[in-house]
Amino acid sequence: MKADPTRQLRLLELQSLDTTLTQLNHRAKSLPEHAEIASLRTALEELDSAVVRTSTERGDLQREVRKADNDVQLVRDRAERDRKRLEAGVGSAKDLQGLQHELESLARRQAVLEDAELEVMERAETAESAAEQAQEQHMQTEQRLAELQSRREALIADLESQRAEVASGRAELVEAVGADLVALYDRIRAHSGTAAAALVRRSCGGCNMELGAVELGRIAEADDDEVLRCEDCGRILVRTPESGV
Ligand SMILES: [Zn+2]
Repeated sequence: MKADPTRQLRLLELQSLDTTLTQLNHRAKSLPEHAEIASLRTALEELDSAVVRTSTERGDLQREVRKADNDVQLVRDRAERDRKRLEAGVGSAKDLQGLQHELESLARRQAVLEDAELEVMERAETAESAAEQAQEQHMQTEQRLAELQSRREALIADLESQRAEVASGRAELVEAVGADLVALYDRIRAHSGTAAAALVRRSCGGCNMELGAVELGRIAEADDDEVLRCEDCGRILVRTPESGV
């Protein structure tokens, strides 16, 4: 290791910078917009099928209404023809009596068909509003999804620019700390999250354990540039003017 006591202080700066980068990454990953967008996408898929289903139902019922209307019209036309023939009075008394009977039966048939038409029209109206509602919900959900996506994009771009700004000072710090110490730092950081901690009022700033008298005595006698490790957590323990040794 190079004999330069200030590089350990630069190591603390590097640790603080890396902690900030980790926090920024974590914030980008844990934005509430991620979960909201995922749930809106699921909702939108369900609304897609609802739109298809309700539109199909509406189409089917519109056809049923046209058919029911046509059925009623056929009976009306037939009755109209019968009435004209009856009024013209052409044919035998038996024929005219037959027409009279048919008109009565057509009137009953028409009433039944009109009831059926009314019923299918009501169902068509219900289907119409269900289809409109599904389309409206689909549109609103799409709109909300687009808003959330652009908000998330802006938040991530902002975090990304903060990250770039913080990271811009990193190369210089790595250089100042030196490759050997950075290599040790990286190894510890890989499994402990943080690798360097200040010795603060006789305690390790990483795990907060107070150092024993023997250990503190040894530290007091160590060279300024000796790399010390916390006996409890293994982090690199950096002495600062506030360390109390
Ligand atoms: Zn510790």
